Amino acid sequence: MIRSRVSTGTAEVWRRFSTSVFVQRRFVQIAATRHRAVSVIDSVVTPENTSFPTWEDRGGSTKTNSMPPLQKSIQKLREDNPNCVLLIQVGSFYELYGDQAQEYAPKLGLKVALKRTRMNDSDGISMAGFPIYQLEKYVTMLVHENEETVAIIDQIGEKKLGDSLVLRRVSRIVTPGTLIDETFLNYNKNNYLLALALPKQLAVSGEHADPDTTVGLAWADLSLGEFNIQETTLKDLMSDIARISPSEIVISKEFQQLHEVMSHDSLQELRRYFVRYHNYQGDSSLFNLATNFKIEKSSLKRRMGSLTLKQTTAMKMVLSYIAVNLPECNPVFDFPKTHWNNQALQMDPRTREALELSSRTTADGKISQTATLLSTIRKTRTQSGSRMLLQWISAPLLDIEELTKRQDFVELFQKNNILSLKIRTQLDSTGDFARSVQQLSLGSGDSLNHIMLIGEGLSQGSIIRDILYDGVPEKYSELIKTFDMKSLDGMANKIFSIVDERLRNDRDKFTDQSSNDIQTPAPKKDDQKDTRERRSFFIQKNHTEELMEAHDSLAQCFKERREIFNDFATKTSDLQLDISKKEEYLKHTDIIHFSGTAANIDAAIEALSIQPHEIQERRPRTLVVKTSAWMQVHSRIDSYISRIDSLEREIISRLRLEILEEIQTIREIGRQLDFLDVTASFAVLASEKNLVRPIFTRRNTLEVKQGRHLVVENGLESSGDLFTPNDTKLGGKTNRLWVISGPNMGGKSTFLRQNAIIVILAQIGSFVPATHCKMGIVDRIFTRIGASDDISRDLSTFMVEMVETSGILENATTKSLAIVDEIGRGTSGDEGLAIAYASLEQLLSVNKCRTLFATHYGIELDRLLTEDGKDKSAVEYFQTGVLESSENRFIADHKLRPGISERSYAIEVAKMAGFPSRAIKSAERAIGLIKKRNGL
Ligand code: ADP
Repeated sequence: MIRSRVSTGTAEVWRRFSTSVFVQRRFVQIAATRHRAVSVIDSVVTPENTSFPTWEDRGGSTKTNSMPPLQKSIQKLREDNPNCVLLIQVGSFYELYGDQAQEYAPKLGLKVALKRTRMNDSDGISMAGFPIYQLEKYVTMLVHENEETVAIIDQIGEKKLGDSLVLRRVSRIVTPGTLIDETFLNYNKNNYLLALALPKQLAVSGEHADPDTTVGLAWADLSLGEFNIQETTLKDLMSDIARISPSEIVISKEFQQLHEVMSHDSLQELRRYFVRYHNYQGDSSLFNLATNFKIEKSSLKRRMGSLTLKQTTAMKMVLSYIAVNLPECNPVFDFPKTHWNNQALQMDPRTREALELSSRTTADGKISQTATLLSTIRKTRTQSGSRMLLQWISAPLLDIEELTKRQDFVELFQKNNILSLKIRTQLDSTGDFARSVQQLSLGSGDSLNHIMLIGEGLSQGSIIRDILYDGVPEKYSELIKTFDMKSLDGMANKIFSIVDERLRNDRDKFTDQSSNDIQTPAPKKDDQKDTRERRSFFIQKNHTEELMEAHDSLAQCFKERREIFNDFATKTSDLQLDISKKEEYLKHTDIIHFSGTAANIDAAIEALSIQPHEIQERRPRTLVVKTSAWMQVHSRIDSYISRIDSLEREIISRLRLEILEEIQTIREIGRQLDFLDVTASFAVLASEKNLVRPIFTRRNTLEVKQGRHLVVENGLESSGDLFTPNDTKLGGKTNRLWVISGPNMGGKSTFLRQNAIIVILAQIGSFVPATHCKMGIVDRIFTRIGASDDISRDLSTFMVEMVETSGILENATTKSLAIVDEIGRGTSGDEGLAIAYASLEQLLSVNKCRTLFATHYGIELDRLLTEDGKDKSAVEYFQTGVLESSENRFIADHKLRPGISERSYAIEVAKMAGFPSRAIKSAERAIGLIKKRNGL
């Protein structure tokens, strides 16, 4: 039982584990180790709530009060939004007040000022602010760099004259899991918000909850509309969370006490994450499932019926949390995809760490994304493809059928270079349209920009579909048929038939995802032309009759305007004539500027019959006029422009709705393109790295010929060295457990990890670094292994070693793979050996899983097995070799051969590491003494 395994002492181990080893893993995780990151947001209220935080700011009021009204309002907001940094909109600025201004202004590079809110206010309140348009920059700094939760409080409507009443409300709480379109997000990975529906008894009995009790999980990527649910058990919870790798975790408020105490060992590791408590009481007034999932009520009922109570609770918690944090957006999600515990290869967080799948801890304790499995194999062309790859690596499959499909695609692309090249080239221009479609549904950013990106993505999708269907050899036609690639040509064509030609052709604008606005090009100065004539509109002029009429009328107005101007020009040829330089884009002053001699100006007034009221300014040598005809034509221009703008807005909004009707199909197309991206990238990897297609069998074996570790091989290549391949033949009655001994630095850990990574690669559908691979699906990988760096410095207490080992011994099944590195090294000689023996014997006799067991106790373990009367038929012994060993040199050849190594070459390695010669001599003397004592 996990419960009995971890007692009070373990809490200390885990405390160190959480605060030191994973330091800087991600800002959200660092934040979680501090208390302020764990906060309750139940008091953030929503539009439906009667205490909707619209509040009064009567700044400047002279009413006598004990506290100035602005301060009162700020205090109320602070109470309503505990643990949030408040950014309060005041006119065209966002401001921080009081101690928050003092604390954050220096961090944000802002100046602190004193704001007096009343005439006789002698104290005032500290304030720091920045212009509205810099909101994203400062939110980024607060959330991303300072690990804070930010409440954005916006002003509603205009300040009423004479009343000084300003209404404000919380328009958004920004937390790591509810980011939508922030440019600092890394779109190569998902940004998941995860809700846990924990068993009720945990809140009551804490530690005494049964490890097999179920827990509901729901996780969503708000920026993509992806939604997932799963049911797991308390004991598997942390592995599932590690697999999902959320940016933020939401737990019902009733468990808040539990987190403070952290009494239940299954939840200890939650400290690594950014956790928030949400006052969720099953209240569905905050969300509407039919709208959130864009699904008919009748089918919603049917589909909801298939979910368990825990899944439903977690799902509703995510929706309610989003509704509270982002009261103004109504996201549309895919109906939750259900995951099963037995669907994916399970790995606990430490195994993921040790195998350095997507990140690794460097020698100086920093988290790095380089030299990981992901960074080594990533050859995808799109951001969404990278996200899919990371999802695959996080959750390798158990389903042979699905794996075969992935492998078939890899083979198709590997054997058909041209096809692969064409598709990969085309993928470069698809853009991340899954994000665009979600932004469109959230109403965030510029709709037309998103529409264009979707149109571009869909038309690229159609091209890729054609390439695939036309270019695929006969042999694979069945495969392509079952893939059933969707297309929405009609939608893409429609988008491009509506959007103006100039925008369509200007594709560069739409490839930059971070720019939300389509800027109209700045007009060139030309006095003759109204600058508005050069303005770009977005919709094809002839899209509707109304639009066409408005454009015709506008063109007519511009013509009339030119005629008036030309008429003036011809009648006053001896004067210089221009339209006022003050005229700016969309800001017409409608004046005509004459300059010349005073006599000529007088003559012009006469000739043009300019009335006194039309004269704006008269100086000896200049005249500024605003004639009625001139003004009329200008006002008609203004009204036609605003008519066109409003017609365009209507068209865009209709188009937006039409696109959203197809949101599920668009996302499906996105996923299919991602699938092609990842499988084509595997094909490139397979060719570049000489990989082989693994064969799956129903037997629990792992046969690898000439296996390699891709990441280590890459590292060696860069220094001109070669990797030594090794074979593995695990499984069956005679070789289920390999005991591997050998010198330090001989390549034992590398061999262990290489096999785990080969299994992972095979079970994500990739080919593997070997000349042959045949294997039975692995349900779980267990490791008792330090990462290659000094993680062990903090983790190598004997307690942690034992926690990890007991995890293996309790949970490994006959389908699992256990890789165990130097068990028992954390304690004294004999006892360490005893623990190593007990672990080996249990793996052999009880777990019966495929096991690679690296140890320096090879000979002793073999002897103990014999003395203990155990059947050794499933055990095989291998050792890594030494090429050369002399006084000062030691070269490991990294080749595995049958047998048990008698020496660890510790002294040679110590010499190479620069051990002082006196200490080396001392070690040699000690060896002599020990041998003498043992009668050798
Ligand atoms: P051990 O666990 O036996 O102490 P490691 O697996 O940590 O040894 O390997 C030590 C170093 O040896 C690695 O960092 C790597 O550079 C090199 N090495 C390991 N295995 C191989 C191999 N098969 N071929 C080439 N070099 C290897």
